[in-house]
Amino acid sequence: MFVFAKERVDEKTFISEEKIKKQLESATPDPKKVRDILAKSLSKQRLEPEETATLLNVEDEEILEEIFEAARKLKTIIYGNRIVLFAPLYIGNECCNDCVYCGFRVSNREVLRKTLTDEELKEEVKALVSKGHKRLIVVYGEHPKYSPEFIAHTIDLIYSTKFDNGEIRRVNVNAAPQTVEGYKIIKEVGIGTFQIFQETYHMPTYRKLHPRGPKSNFAWRLYGLDRAMIAGIDDVGIGALFGLYDWKYEVMGLLHHTIHLEERFGVGPHTISFPRIEPAVGTPFSENPPKPVSDKEFKKLVAILRLSVPYTGLILTARERPELRDEVIKLGVSQIDAGSSIGVGSYSSTDEEVIKKSQFLLGDRRSLDEVIYELLKDGYIPSFCTACYRAGRTGEHFMEFAIPGFVKRFCTPNALFTLKEYLNDYASPETKALGEKLINKELEKFDEKNRKTILEGLERLDRGERDVRF
Ligand code: SAM
Ligand code: SF4
Repeated sequence: MFVFAKERVDEKTFISEEKIKKQLESATPDPKKVRDILAKSLSKQRLEPEETATLLNVEDEEILEEIFEAARKLKTIIYGNRIVLFAPLYIGNECCNDCVYCGFRVSNREVLRKTLTDEELKEEVKALVSKGHKRLIVVYGEHPKYSPEFIAHTIDLIYSTKFDNGEIRRVNVNAAPQTVEGYKIIKEVGIGTFQIFQETYHMPTYRKLHPRGPKSNFAWRLYGLDRAMIAGIDDVGIGALFGLYDWKYEVMGLLHHTIHLEERFGVGPHTISFPRIEPAVGTPFSENPPKPVSDKEFKKLVAILRLSVPYTGLILTARERPELRDEVIKLGVSQIDAGSSIGVGSYSSTDEEVIKKSQFLLGDRRSLDEVIYELLKDGYIPSFCTACYRAGRTGEHFMEFAIPGFVKRFCTPNALFTLKEYLNDYASPETKALGEKLINKELEKFDEKNRKTILEGLERLDRGERDVRF
């Protein structure tokens, strides 16, 4: 088994460039084979690398449409029409790495360095809570200042900051890979998902784009989530930054990573993220990435990820423009961020300089209320549900996937409760009217007994109770 010593960069890992390239080269996408693979995926089985490679090689427009159709179907049959909403919260942008694509990299002189003080952090949380947010992902550069103790302290502070009727109920983390001991300290304060994106699974490219700092060690990062699992964090998220290397190779890398976690720990990743590179202040590389992914390729890769790992949550970020976001959501996305701001301190400050403290520029600048309104218009149930996490049921997506009837019994009612809470406390009149209509429509889908129970919950919310959940 792999040793976790930081210096052992050249150790053989579960990512083999040769194997992935062979898998991609030898997969022929004949229609019958593709249809068999789609049927396997629709029967809720995770695909094998050869099967995913076959889907990746499909170019025929009609067969491609069958892939999209299967992804949409899989999403509907397993997850229904809920979309979970969250916001990113940047705690600090000091960083000792030099990732060439990132505005926070150590050599970038144009970025203003900033770490939130406790008071500033509380203000950020209040600003987010006052908009209706309940779920956050906290983001940190990699720096000695951001020790496990510091990360734990900031998360603790977030949970304990209440504002009017609201509070943050689930904090996911996107931070540097930790030691097992470090993860244990962070786990103590109660986190949701710990995310680490490998950026690229192609080691030579990785080496070139991460020339300095702890992140230059490919294997230390690749096994970062193994250490999280060893520390008892069984809710982990993987991801690749698209635009650095061939997108098909990265999809294969994500699948191999998934299989590795399944084989070693009996559980795969809770979420997969697939950000595309966005322009960042003082970062010419980000304006002209070496392997840009077109919108068409992006849709294809999301559909294929959905089909390849049916049990995992897919996260789409506000890096994408609203029009594309709407299309891609249909292909199997389960979480999106909304009303996002990615400057350090940018939720509570209107400071013009804040852009200079941002990691990159966002494609979707709509407010949370606007995003919710649009989702409702398209028939989605925007959800802030955190019930599984708080009832000690880890792996919320996996529950939805694995337990027949779980979505209907737990997820949909809880989504409706959190939507109702949002409508009562934060929504604009237009969003409120649309949301109430959707709730009524959803209620009709339940039998009388269940409808009555859900109605009771909704009435409790109308009487002023909060955090109602099954
Ligand atoms: N510093 C930690 C790390 O690198 O893992 C966590 C925070 S880092 C800001 C979070 C993610 O932002 C990175 O993993 C990378 O995928 C993404 N990122 C960096 N630069 C980006 C850019 N120009 N456009 C889009 N995403 C970017
Ligand atoms: Fe630092 Fe993370 Fe940005 Fe790299 S991606 S420069 S590690 S903040």
